[in-house]
Amino acid sequence: MPKKTIPIIDFRQYRSIPNIPSVIEEPNGLLGDAFGRPLQDLRISLTDRCNFRCVYCMPIEAFGKDHKFMPRASMLTFEEITRIAKIFVDHGVQKIRLTGGEPLLRKHVENLIEMLSRLKTYDGKDLDLTLTTNGSLLGKKAQSLKDAGLNRVTVSLDALDDATFKRMNGVDYSVSDVLRSLDIAHSVGLGPIKVNMVVKGGMNDQEIVPMARYFKDTPFILRFIEYMDVGTSNQWEMGEVIPSAEVVRRISTHMPLEEIEPNCSGETAERWRYKQGGGEIGVISSITKTFCHECVRARLSTEGKLYTCLFAESGHDLRALLHGGKTDQEISAALAHLWRQRADRYSELRSANTKKTNSTGKKIEMSYIGG
Ligand code: SAM
Ligand code: SF4
Ligand code: SF4
Repeated sequence: MPKKTIPIIDFRQYRSIPNIPSVIEEPNGLLGDAFGRPLQDLRISLTDRCNFRCVYCMPIEAFGKDHKFMPRASMLTFEEITRIAKIFVDHGVQKIRLTGGEPLLRKHVENLIEMLSRLKTYDGKDLDLTLTTNGSLLGKKAQSLKDAGLNRVTVSLDALDDATFKRMNGVDYSVSDVLRSLDIAHSVGLGPIKVNMVVKGGMNDQEIVPMARYFKDTPFILRFIEYMDVGTSNQWEMGEVIPSAEVVRRISTHMPLEEIEPNCSGETAERWRYKQGGGEIGVISSITKTFCHECVRARLSTEGKLYTCLFAESGHDLRALLHGGKTDQEISAALAHLWRQRADRYSELRSANTKKTNSTGKKIEMSYIGG
């Protein structure tokens, strides 16, 4: 049977150019949004390309050979990324996560890491510099990433069973290759390493307990992520979401768990530890237990648009400011103005309305904006 093609909306055309306020104020590391949420966490997408075609993110039916990725010429350069990152850091960002697409596909990514690792937080501390990857290039690059100044990595792995994993990643990639990368990353000191498993009901939920068992008593922290309605290409349905409470229940039946305190405020994962033996797991309940009220995260797309929410309808074009010759002070003031107005809380509203989309129906793909 021929594969059906899923049309995706080209949300990338929607953008606005931020205004520069008439009064330019100095950043003080304490920027708060309309609900008082600080700007603490910046995710930077290094590319919208990926060598995987995960069913929940870049399904092959929507991201086939004809898909037009961002032209390379429109990507921010490493110098531009670092310049923008510094402006964010001065407003209070403490953690930078590199993502994508697959961030390790970006050539010479180590050079960017070296540049970012020299930035200091507003109060002079080192940044928490991390990266999320599908693990395919991690084994080869782990040492050079560590040497460049990367602190740690998060690796996505959706199953231990090879056939299930291959169905999930869409490109026949084997579990053993990801496990090897995990071991190498651990041995060079890129830890503590988190392993992310997106649970899609009817696809890989039978892998919940085997994954928990495999990673118990290891240095890796396994986190189960509820399948999210991000983008339009994955044809998300509520019926395919396995609630985190069910994940915890299934694991507890075999290996009893107890809840523990979060590490820090703004942490999206709820933590559970095994009552017997060592180790913990995390559950990220983006659908059933939303955390918009403590969302301290901004996202910078590959070509320099700021998204204040994963479900924002359009991005704020910071690259236009860079290319328009604006100074760092002007861009900083524009960012402060934008963040102060931020009132996004899509997931909370979705839960309240059980609606599938935002007001316009335009939704950004995860591979473009970075998860
Ligand atoms: N390619 C890298 C990777 O897979 O780790 C980084 C980018 S990926 C977009 C970042 C994270 O988003 C991954 O852990 C992935 O599993 C998660 N993700 C993607 N689509 C998702 C969805 N629809 N629901 C929940 N998580 C999703
Ligand atoms: Fe690629 Fe990551 Fe999306 Fe999978 S989740 S398709 S690895 S960007
Ligand atoms: Fe943050 Fe938007 Fe997700 Fe809510 S829906 S947690 S505001 S990114």
